[in-house]
Amino acid sequence: MAHDGTPRVAIVTGSSRGIGRAIALELAHRGSRVVINYRAGKDAAEAVRREIELSGGEALVVRADVSVEADVRTMMEKTIEQFSRLDILVNNAGVLQDNFVSFMSEEQWDLVLDVNLKSAFFCTKHASKQMAKQRWGRIINISSDAGLMGDMLRTNYSAAKAGLIGLTKSTARELAARGITANAIAPGYIETDMTSEWADQKRKQMLERIPMQRLGSPQEVARAAAYLASEQASYVTGQVLSVDGGLHM
Ligand code: NAD
Repeated sequence: MAHDGTPRVAIVTGSSRGIGRAIALELAHRGSRVVINYRAGKDAAEAVRREIELSGGEALVVRADVSVEADVRTMMEKTIEQFSRLDILVNNAGVLQDNFVSFMSEEQWDLVLDVNLKSAFFCTKHASKQMAKQRWGRIINISSDAGLMGDMLRTNYSAAKAGLIGLTKSTARELAARGITANAIAPGYIETDMTSEWADQKRKQMLERIPMQRLGSPQEVARAAAYLASEQASYVTGQVLSVDGGLHM
């Protein structure tokens, strides 16, 4: 709830499924109005909206390819048109294009950098103007342990996720005086479409590296995001919170 008693408004990019969906549901559950953003999964995004509305919340579905600045600008305009404010931005949209560095194409590099990193720049650029007017904002960037530790076949993804951490820290420094915090979450291995294709052998190898010996759930990431989006995190900015069962420490 904002200081004037109106509900907070949150945009969660790529929230038709996986971690983004869980964050959208968690924020709605805690009283925010939520913009469900999708690029291709319209039916899934509408299903998230219905789920929020059925439990008494409010949501707006907006299609936007967040790697395209014009789409991001339109998404911000639609948000303000509908809800007259914007308080929380969760940069969650992401893709993988795994390959050995020696064989990675320029297209694979560019797609991953554009969707995971450039999108967060565009969304932060446009959202921060509205948040600065309100003198309150929460920006949460979904990075990855890959950005802290590196990962096999993922030079593009690890570079993008490490870049998000730099973006987070600079944003935190620049916008602190406007009442806006910026933090990153670095999930480890989370049970979603991104990890469901793993063969049993790979799953076993991964579990051996995780002290808690299990994958995380999207809800466990969502609860960390909800904390960083809340009043409770008022003195926390520029941080990277790993949610990973101890994989990175
Ligand atoms: P996912 O593939 O299920 O979800 C990614 C979402 O991003 C999808 O809804 C997809 O439609 C959306 N998206 C992709 N390109 C887009 C674009 N151009 N514009 C708008 N939306 C777009 O994956 P997930 O596991 O839920 O991942 C969510 C975030 O968490 C990603 O940033 C990912 O890198 C990060 N992450 C995931 C894990 C994991 O183990 N699953 C680990 C660390 C970090």
